[in-house]
Amino acid sequence: MVLIIGGLLVLALFSFWLVRKQDGKLRVLMYHKVDDSRRDMLTVTTEQLDQHLFYLRKRGYDFISIRNLFNLSSPPSNGIVLTFDDAYVNNLELAYPILKKHEACATIFVPTAYVGDSSQWDTKAEPLLPVEALRNLDPEVFDLGLHSHTHRNYGDLSEEALEEDLRRNIQFFRDHQLPFVPAFAYPYGSRPKDKNRKKFMQQVMSQMGISMAFRIGNRLNNWPLSKPYEIQRIDIRGTDSLEDFAWKVKWGKQF
Ligand SMILES: [Zn+2]
Repeated sequence: MVLIIGGLLVLALFSFWLVRKQDGKLRVLMYHKVDDSRRDMLTVTTEQLDQHLFYLRKRGYDFISIRNLFNLSSPPSNGIVLTFDDAYVNNLELAYPILKKHEACATIFVPTAYVGDSSQWDTKAEPLLPVEALRNLDPEVFDLGLHSHTHRNYGDLSEEALEEDLRRNIQFFRDHQLPFVPAFAYPYGSRPKDKNRKKFMQQVMSQMGISMAFRIGNRLNNWPLSKPYEIQRIDIRGTDSLEDFAWKVKWGKQF
């Protein structure tokens, strides 16, 4: 009898801990490409994206744009942020109609040296949105963020190279009068490992007005954000099943 009561108590405490673990958390999803001819680590099909957004709405998640994230004073209840890295043409051609249909919004992080060109860092380079297309994006659906100028690994750059790359990233938006949110996504999710270089990078970001930066990490974020330059995103892959997606959204990574 004592064992049963003890067991039930442990179960109740565990359930309470599980519920608490998800309270007041901010979820950020990271997408790259949308393509109906394949599914891979960086590519989902339109059917998958549609299923994802349908699932999120059904579960009562609220889509929050990064622009609105800056203005939030209270914790987001079930808030979820969608992001697309690299500004692929397929984000506009294939993702946009689905986002619109579900009244969702997303941030596209742009590596500015490659705008209108192709993703030369990919195994197979794919077309990227030109300036005019970026300028004409539906502002109710997309906002634009910073993804470095040259899409190099920030873990490998010197302090000078890093500062210069950030400066040119922002300058591109200014030169082309493109509106952007002062949020940055690290190429490859990579930041300097060395403490001093990391601190230097964050100081430079702060001086330049960048107040949020996104890595990968696959965890949910506490709200308010305690580490605004280390915001974690959940890596969404076309190779995942819908059940895998649901699990990732709920918990971040498998634990
Ligand atoms: Zn990228």
